[in-house]
Amino acid sequence: PDAQTYRGRFAPSPTGPLHFGSLLAAFGSWLAARHAGGEWLIRIEDLDPPREAPGAAERQMHTLQAFGLASDAPALKQSERGAHYQAALDRLLASGAAFVCHCSRSDLADEGGVHRACVAASPRPDPAIRFRVPAGTRVSFEDSLQGRFDQDVAADVGDFVLRRTDGLWAYQLAVVVDDAAQGITDVVRGADLLDSTPRQILLQRALDLPTPRYAHLPLVVDAGGRKLSKSLAALPVDPADPLPAMHAVWRALGQAPLTAGTGSVAAMLEAMHRSFDPARLPHTPRLALAALHNDRD
Ligand code: GLU
Repeated sequence: PDAQTYRGRFAPSPTGPLHFGSLLAAFGSWLAARHAGGEWLIRIEDLDPPREAPGAAERQMHTLQAFGLASDAPALKQSERGAHYQAALDRLLASGAAFVCHCSRSDLADEGGVHRACVAASPRPDPAIRFRVPAGTRVSFEDSLQGRFDQDVAADVGDFVLRRTDGLWAYQLAVVVDDAAQGITDVVRGADLLDSTPRQILLQRALDLPTPRYAHLPLVVDAGGRKLSKSLAALPVDPADPLPAMHAVWRALGQAPLTAGTGSVAAMLEAMHRSFDPARLPHTPRLALAALHNDRD
């Protein structure tokens, strides 16, 4: 796709307040879209009510607004898109790409946690639906930041869930259906999702959907190399005081220091948009938080 048709997105799950890692993905995707003269959309990935905090989606939207990040179209909510996931699932079932799986947790444990064939001794009332991954299925793709990524999906992942035994839709199916429905050409997100991408590419192929370009930003980790969990976030995102977090995001994205236009959110956004250089984005899988404070070295 050319510059005119660039469309990016930010797709938070409303499991809590936005943390620094999510803000990095929000700004990374927004800046890349604006730099390409494209559009940027927000999608609320509220697929898993038991894991969601009441009001979290609204608070996340409020935080994004405080940072000046506005979706170019009304935000899509995955909780309202079940019919679309069902249609995709029906198609995969009809073609034989998906199957009903009666395996239990202990059946799976017997297989070492990777589903390769149904071994269920008896049917269950609430079967899952899985995508079939035949032995030897490998997917390789070129990530614009992380380079070539190659996965033996059969050995590393196995037959993966599309609809869970509790009836909830799996992220992998929903994200593929919605990236296509929203016409997303470029996915910029955290490197924790790098190893989900081959599954998404398999689903795109099985559903005859285009594969977007992918750019996975480094995962923000603490000084010991551990992933920052939401509760541990050393840099909480405070919607009442956006500028410090915007400066930290800018540094984490590897960008050259801004010399002017940093006095307000609007001015800062404008300066970021003007100065953004995608060639400076970090190509590492991880970024230690301490590195964010090295600007004065
Ligand atoms: N909803 C996912 C998350 O918050 C991100 C999905 C994506 O960007 O593909 O981790």
